[in-house]
Amino acid sequence: MDFTPSEEQEILRRTVREFAEAEMRPHVMEWDEAQHFPMELLPKMADLGLLGIQFEDKYGGAGMSAVDYCICIEELARVDPAIALSVAAHNGLCTSHIATFGDEAQKARYLPRLVKGEALGAWGLTEASAGSDAAAMRTTAARQGECWVINGAKQFITHGAIGGVMVVMAVTDRSKAHRGISAFIVEHGTAGMRAGKKENKLGMRASDTSEVVFQDCRVPPAQMLGEDGQAFINTLQVLDAGRIGIAALAVGLAQGAYEAARAYAKERRQFGQPIAAFQAIQWKLANAATDIEAARLLTYRAAYLKDRGDRMTRESAMAKLYASETAVRVADDCVQIHGGYGFVKDYPAEKYFRDVKLLTIGEGTSEIQRLVIARQLLQ
Ligand SMILES: Cc1cc2nc3c(=O)[nH]c(=O)nc-3n(C[C@H](O)[C@H](O)[C@H](O)COP(=O)(O)OP(=O)(O)OC[C@H]3O[C@@H](n4cnc5c(N)ncnc54)[C@H](O)[C@@H]3O)c2cc1C
Repeated sequence: MDFTPSEEQEILRRTVREFAEAEMRPHVMEWDEAQHFPMELLPKMADLGLLGIQFEDKYGGAGMSAVDYCICIEELARVDPAIALSVAAHNGLCTSHIATFGDEAQKARYLPRLVKGEALGAWGLTEASAGSDAAAMRTTAARQGECWVINGAKQFITHGAIGGVMVVMAVTDRSKAHRGISAFIVEHGTAGMRAGKKENKLGMRASDTSEVVFQDCRVPPAQMLGEDGQAFINTLQVLDAGRIGIAALAVGLAQGAYEAARAYAKERRQFGQPIAAFQAIQWKLANAATDIEAARLLTYRAAYLKDRGDRMTRESAMAKLYASETAVRVADDCVQIHGGYGFVKDYPAEKYFRDVKLLTIGEGTSEIQRLVIARQLLQ
């Protein structure tokens, strides 16, 4: 067992950190307040391989491992969790679904555009009345002549308004329940597809989250992704890997919050000494550093299993659950250590505190992670 990152991984971490510090850090609050996703960053991200981290070189991908993927997402989240969320959704949901289940023609057509950042990927599973119980979705795709006709609406879709390519799940045979759900690739601008309400969010505000509405949206059969009726099962596999990305996002966010709290504790003086001299503050920092290390190890272990081609449903759910709940505690303590200054926008603490809550909700809530873990333990 070797816990040492390779030299290439050290270089990767340094490179992504330098990019995030130089290109993102100065604009974090401006993007947050304007709810603006910086499309202008896409070419630079694509040059670094951040929009095709784990995808094959023949499609223009960076061909990195799942552990490398975690390093990239962590470093983005350390500076701006909202941008990391967009990069994770683009790589880990839409692009990953096409790369894993697409046929050669679909991969050749869509992957190069996605990894170059010519199109951001969106992935539509959730609906207004089907969240944790995603199989209860109402969106349908009916075969009419030479086309599939999609009707319905998807809720809370990352890049729902700005995505160029969307993978959407729809019921093709209601009588088969979750085995009657199929996936389709729909391009932005297809007639009958439009963005609905853009959400005004508590956190992760720079990442676009919008409703997507389908009204008689016609797509040719070649746009069906994977086999008819297999999409729900495929989705579970996409989410197993996607959760490793959310766990890495939580580790990076917690690391950013911990570093901000440590720096502030050394600088802020009360009762004639830095507040870092008080044991109450030291214990918060010690707990944060320990919990972050534990979360990182769980996350890398799930990624390592993915790299080996092993099943990691239990491990990715454990990593996502533990890392996201750790990040919530660390972000909370970060505000506490900042006192009143943690409550105002001049310091990064309040943004970490707002952003972090999404991590115990998106890609399966903490309750659903516990359900997945328990199911694996009891089977
Ligand atoms: C910013 C953001 C981005 C998102 N991006 C995407 C995206 O790109 N694509 C996409 O498809 N979705 C996306 N989502 C949706 C997200 O995955 C769902 O919000 C999430 O799965 C929870 O569904 P829900 O909100 O309907 O909550 P519900 O399922 O209604 O859950 C409400 C509460 O009930 C609990 N609960 C539900 N069922 C059970 C159970 N069986 N046992 C115990 N407790 C239970 C939940 O844990 C939760 O606490 C996004 C959401 C947000 C907020």
